[in-house]
Amino acid sequence: MNTVFLGPPGVGKGTQATRLAAEFGVPHISTGDILREEIKAGTELGRLAQSYIDDGNLVPDSVAVDIIRHRLTKPDARRGYILDGFPRTVPQAEMFEKLLEELGDRLDRVIYLEASEEVLVKRLSGRRVCRDCGKIFHLVNMPPKKEGVCDLCGGELYQRPDDEPESVRHRFRVYQEKTADLVRWYEDKDRLTRLPGDIPWVETYEMLREIFSQSPAGGPEAD
Ligand code: AMP
Repeated sequence: MNTVFLGPPGVGKGTQATRLAAEFGVPHISTGDILREEIKAGTELGRLAQSYIDDGNLVPDSVAVDIIRHRLTKPDARRGYILDGFPRTVPQAEMFEKLLEELGDRLDRVIYLEASEEVLVKRLSGRRVCRDCGKIFHLVNMPPKKEGVCDLCGGELYQRPDDEPESVRHRFRVYQEKTADLVRWYEDKDRLTRLPGDIPWVETYEMLREIFSQSPAGGPEAD
């Protein structure tokens, strides 16, 4: 069940991963969410991460890997996990392989959600997130029942500063420079499953359910 979700910002990794994790009973681990929580809590890590995130740049690879190392040693991660937003670069993926070896674990699958830049810019500009529980809404595709209020917990919905147009464009460039290489890296290892991320999200979700219901593929035993 150990899965990595790859894809450009706004392709729906978070939405799909949250639902799959709930349905299949494994934690959804998002390095972006962890970093935002650290910022909210005012920790040293949060202070370090803040300027990178606000500018739409990646935090240093070693910081991202340390976060994952810490998170994967928690008991709930023994049942499997869905990683969203990690790894983000080839060096992170290489360090992640070493970490898996140390933990005596393996990666079962890598899902790559694809969509055009045009679709993604539209999606990100409408994205709203609950300040309290992190649930993701979209002003057009998945609006909350009451404007500005989370359906689940009643928390305030806000627009992430890095979803502002200028920052979004920068994140695309960063994605193209860094994460696109990672897609090729996993593809060369025959680990990658490509899925469309620009169709209605329920259709993508059905494809994902199908994949998750089958036995894992692409790990060392399948090579
Ligand atoms: P996300 O919520 O995945 O879009 O992540 C938001 C921001 O957190 C990114 O733009 C980066 O600044 C930072 N971030 C999240 N995950 C990573 C990672 N694996 N490596 C480096 N930076 C990350």
